[in-house]
Amino acid sequence: MSKIVGIDLGTTNSCISIIENGDPVVVVNNEGQRTTPSMVAFSTKGERHVGVHAKRQAAVNPERTIYGIKRLIGHRESDSEVQELERVVPYHIIPSPSGDAWVQIDSASYSPQEISAMIISKLKESAESYCSESVTQCVIAVPAYFNDAQRQATRDACQLAGLEVLRIMNEPTLAALAFGLMKRTNGYVAVFDLGGGTFDISILQCNNGTFRVLATAGNNHLGGNDFDNVIQKYLLDHFVDETGIDITSDKMAMQRVHEAAEALKCELSTLTETTVNLPFLAIGPAGPVHLCMDVTRDELEQLIRPLIDKLDAPCIDAMKEAGLSASDLDDVILVGGMTRMPCVRTHVEEIFKAKVSHGVNPDEAVALGAAVQSGILGGDIQEVVLLDVTPLNLGIETSGDRVSTIIERNSSIPTKASKIFTTTEDNQSFVRITVVQGDKQRASECARLGTILLTDIPKMAAGVPRIEVEFCIDADGVVSVQCIERKTGLTKKLVIQGSVGLSGQQLRDAQSRL
Ligand code: AMP
Repeated sequence: MSKIVGIDLGTTNSCISIIENGDPVVVVNNEGQRTTPSMVAFSTKGERHVGVHAKRQAAVNPERTIYGIKRLIGHRESDSEVQELERVVPYHIIPSPSGDAWVQIDSASYSPQEISAMIISKLKESAESYCSESVTQCVIAVPAYFNDAQRQATRDACQLAGLEVLRIMNEPTLAALAFGLMKRTNGYVAVFDLGGGTFDISILQCNNGTFRVLATAGNNHLGGNDFDNVIQKYLLDHFVDETGIDITSDKMAMQRVHEAAEALKCELSTLTETTVNLPFLAIGPAGPVHLCMDVTRDELEQLIRPLIDKLDAPCIDAMKEAGLSASDLDDVILVGGMTRMPCVRTHVEEIFKAKVSHGVNPDEAVALGAAVQSGILGGDIQEVVLLDVTPLNLGIETSGDRVSTIIERNSSIPTKASKIFTTTEDNQSFVRITVVQGDKQRASECARLGTILLTDIPKMAAGVPRIEVEFCIDADGVVSVQCIERKTGLTKKLVIQGSVGLSGQQLRDAQSRL
């Protein structure tokens, strides 16, 4: 049987791992790196660069360099998060024919699934050359807070890259799995995962090989990119104060400042002071103008304080939902590159009143956990059981922009629940139900997974039909719906319409371009 790979498709970096002699190992890519930048670029000649090659040319080709694609996957172009992203990225985001968020490079448009597939293909190639055999199956990690549309789209990306997805798993759960297996921990563990684009917190109980997720919470729109944007604005404000020049419309200059902002953030994780030096950033009346500025760690920490404060609420919520207090926790595991920041670490220690564990590399823990899960599926690893939860409420939209919850967040998965619907008019032949997923009270603030049309309802007086709609969430966190009309016994598997995703033709088109 060929190897099943474990993939962490990160906002900023991605990582692939496999099981070797019963242990998870990270596969080094063809450039000799253990992680691959999640970046894709197209040259003016139409050549495609993926990973570190795309990253290296980003400053001179910003409009054709795509990063942070994970923030678009499974989204509509009109979503507020996408609109926010549009303001800060140098590439163009456009609506697809069905309104999904796509990327436009010159005259070509690409779905986030297709761009992600290019990154996955590169990881797959590395694994194939490492194993000297073709790889066709994977376990893929997603942020715990990914909704159904984002999970389905991630699965499509893998399929485009020629990988069958055996399981979609939550990133913090996988990190805990890697950590638990390495340390053979028993007890309560919090996994704090702050990456480039998302923040997840999960609380697990580990007991002799059984990993039970008790609660998960987070923020799908909080990550290193947001910190970089705040720092970038700080540098730009300083530049305007010093020179009176506004460079916000110069995409190349903006890309250089963005890269400098990220580099500054990373440097100040080990240094207490550093210098940003960007020569020839603009041309002023007296010739070239440079950005040169000293920044201390204290200044940085003051600047990002509002973002650090946003980390508290999900942690407190997760502990509450798990029925635990900070003193009950035995370990706190840090995952994601952003947890290298000293102020993030001390803040985590303050929230959980515990020392954080340094046993697992924050860049690799998720991919290693995914390999462990692939080992469980492939039979290489035995006596490990993983019990996960769904992070978001699943419900239907009701009048007044409200949500009637059908499956509560933090329910163990797989799970199912049903609800009886009826008609409001005599001889009504159909009922339309909008399925929503999220942790907000208002339906309009949750993700709309799509609309279900219950058709062919037999003619009956208003209120008489008893239509039972069953909502299922499988072990991948993916939603399906089935409906039974109780009076006639008619059963129908329902297709959710109008959801984000690629049509069969779009998948075929993307496949032919890859
Ligand atoms: P991940 O999605 O886990 O790969 O995390 C990527 C994020 O971690 C990016 O925003 C990086 O800028 C950030 N990051 C990586 N290394 C460091 C570091 N040494 N200090 C601060 N942030 C870092």
